[in-house]
Amino acid sequence: GFCPETKTFHSLRPAIPLPPPFLPLSFPDFALSLLPSPLPSHPALIDAATSASVSFPSFFSRVNSLASALHAHAGLSRSDVAFILSPATLDIPILYFALLSLGVTISPANPAASPSELSRLVRLTNPSIAFAVSSTVSKLPSNLPTLLLDSPTFRSFLEADVIFPSASPAIEQSDVAAIQFSSGTTGHMKAAALTHRNFIAMTAGFQALQAGQAGPDVTLLSAPMFHSLGFFFALKTVALGDTLVMMDRVTFPDMMRAAEKYGVTQMTAAPPVVLAMARSEDISALKRIFCGGAPLSEDAAERFSTRFPGISICQVAYGSTEAGGISRMIYADECKQQRSVGRLSENLEAKIVDPLTREFLSIGQQGELWIRSPAVMKGYVGDEEANVKTFDCKGWLKTGDLCYIDDNGYIYIVDRLKELIKYKAYQVPPAELEQVLQSSPEIIDAAVVPYPQEEVGQIPMAFVVRQPGSKISAVEVMDYVAKKVAPYKKIRKVSFVNSIPKSAAGKILRKELATYAMSAAPVS
Ligand code: AMP
Repeated sequence: GFCPETKTFHSLRPAIPLPPPFLPLSFPDFALSLLPSPLPSHPALIDAATSASVSFPSFFSRVNSLASALHAHAGLSRSDVAFILSPATLDIPILYFALLSLGVTISPANPAASPSELSRLVRLTNPSIAFAVSSTVSKLPSNLPTLLLDSPTFRSFLEADVIFPSASPAIEQSDVAAIQFSSGTTGHMKAAALTHRNFIAMTAGFQALQAGQAGPDVTLLSAPMFHSLGFFFALKTVALGDTLVMMDRVTFPDMMRAAEKYGVTQMTAAPPVVLAMARSEDISALKRIFCGGAPLSEDAAERFSTRFPGISICQVAYGSTEAGGISRMIYADECKQQRSVGRLSENLEAKIVDPLTREFLSIGQQGELWIRSPAVMKGYVGDEEANVKTFDCKGWLKTGDLCYIDDNGYIYIVDRLKELIKYKAYQVPPAELEQVLQSSPEIIDAAVVPYPQEEVGQIPMAFVVRQPGSKISAVEVMDYVAKKVAPYKKIRKVSFVNSIPKSAAGKILRKELATYAMSAAPVS
């Protein structure tokens, strides 16, 4: 519904009731309040690589043991921050729940990140402890106390007799549950703080989606567990009594094998995975695909529907780290509107705002999408400047996405206003790569823009101004950056130019460069 007086779009769905905000409630306690007693007998977690599984009773008994041991032996308590650098294993969701039940803030990072990237993230979050594995620990700053997840000590914590009667401090819903890294609408990686209430609200949304359905869902998680989507799915599948099938190294054949073996009913998939599915054999056990993280082209969506006309599953999920994972805007019965990412989900309000005049717009007009909901993050940690830029004074989150909403309430994402490249569904902040490029003695100036490539969405492309006399080649530029950043951030295309076009205020004219790159760039 659109209210012409306030120029606000509201969800057409009835609001989902949430616990009163002032009630002290941690996410694990909220999860337990949803689960039946006795706990379900089917597996809570399955590791597709080893076929090992964890039942619900054993999940919660390990959570209790671990929380007590971490409190007793590592002194962890409410408001501490724990940095996590690990591949996805069965222990990770257990660790997430244990830390949340102590009121500890979780900061999960990409194990592929480079040591210099990690030291920046550690500085941003100021953790009192890190959890790593033998293969990742050497990348962390050496002065950070670290517990190895593959050590006998950690294994003993999981099985420890509960020493303290489940040390349960009063955790407020407004306590920060997780810090996730995102560059948001500007420049560099920032630390987005999401509260217990954010995750409660997001989970309640999925509970409504699955209400009335017979039996639990079996969800295949193909997103990494440190990413906002994977992190949230690890929490919400447990809370909703579903089975989570996880895999650390995801290849398409492995995914399809796991889907068949475990009777997977729904899965998360970035657009490249949907493209691969459209060419695949049979995936008819699936009811739902949460395809999101980046735009799925109309053409790809159509190929998918043609290949699997009987499956009403192509749910396109739109969301962001800042908005609280998926803002889950499309429903099974609405899948025919392929180009739309769906309608506003419950408890969500939106405004469409003219990017230049800041005027609030109405139905059918294109502008920046602003949203407000109980799932929207608390803010960026220690970055007031970014908070002021990201929120308006009434708490609206500026998404940086150019959208319009039609008169049936369908949302269409037209373009990205913010400086963000999405390689697969990963965030690549251009400003970070520009700094790396500029650190080379052979380079005077550089700009990084998205370049479209169907299989992966976008690749980072660099425009480079060489030092006079420098003969650095495109391959050498790419190698220079590749040595310093996580693999998904690599520069994959280079063009040499004489200068970088900038506005009067010195801002790189990225849109112009991106358009130029697509039209006639003499790419080397
Ligand atoms: P992240 O914080 O990594 O989830 O990135 C969020 C951004 O990815 C959004 O603000 C959009 O620019 C883009 N995005 C995510 N999902 C979609 C989608 N379904 N369609 C188009 N863009 C999307």
